[in-house]
Amino acid sequence: MTDLSGRAAIVTGGARGQGAAEVRLLAECGARVLICDVLEDEGHALVNDIGSNARFHKLDVTDSAGWAAAAAALHDWTGRADILVNNAGIINRTLIADTEPDAWRRLLDINLTGAFLGVRAMAPLMQSGHGGSIINISSNSAFSGHSDPAYTASKWGLRGLTKSAAMEFAGVGIRVNAVCPGLIVTDLNRTSPHLGPMVGMTPAGRPGEIEEVAKLVLYLTSDASRFVTGEDFVIDGGFTAGAAYRRVGVETGILSS
Ligand code: NAP
Repeated sequence: MTDLSGRAAIVTGGARGQGAAEVRLLAECGARVLICDVLEDEGHALVNDIGSNARFHKLDVTDSAGWAAAAAALHDWTGRADILVNNAGIINRTLIADTEPDAWRRLLDINLTGAFLGVRAMAPLMQSGHGGSIINISSNSAFSGHSDPAYTASKWGLRGLTKSAAMEFAGVGIRVNAVCPGLIVTDLNRTSPHLGPMVGMTPAGRPGEIEEVAKLVLYLTSDASRFVTGEDFVIDGGFTAGAAYRRVGVETGILSS
């Protein structure tokens, strides 16, 4: 098992869904994890479940001062800062014609600017300590045109932020990578009409599991990935690799379903 003993982490949007699975796995591996989320009840319940390796800190990732307080809370607790998982995110599910500018801005503020603020708050602590690993949770929709344009733009933006931050901090021992999941059934999409068709087109024939994404995040936080930075890691059961061509292959009988 990966040993993260002594490491200190923040996971945003960590109270539920993929973030909660990441919190659980990092804590199981020995890290002390500050769960940063707007969902207080879920956050405290998760802490109760995990025990002393987790604490909850209420944070809206769009709040710059809130980020300074969260980074200080981690440092006061652990004396260090090693891992940041920028996982908090929302989706609008509206087309351009139906998206109010304020809704566009709010989504970009949470999904993209929130991650920028996180990097800005945590990198100095990592730099003055033992270096660190930052993981931005993007999406496989950052490789094509998803039908929510604000979501798509935010996830493409996270890939750009990842590469720029990786270059900026490579010299001070901070690695920055992006994880790009495909369909993972969570509260974000449980009721979406896209679920059935998406599963149908996913070459693996099923949605991904939150624990599978967490294991990829764990790899990127660990020393096993110490030469890896500035990269996108797609985890989507083969969707990005060629789901459309695969469907053509199946429909024409070249491939079996
Ligand atoms: P989720 O269950 O909705 O979890 C997201 C968490 O972020 C929620 O606890 C949410 O709280 C929180 N959050 C929202 N706005 C916040 C803010 N301003 N400050 C702090 N926390 C905030 O969704 P998930 O599926 O686990 O998604 C996690 C990440 O993976 C997201 O970035 C998502 O875009 C990405 N992703 C998901 C999928 C998928 O298929 N599920 C695929 C690709 C990428 P609220 O309930 O208040 O919103």
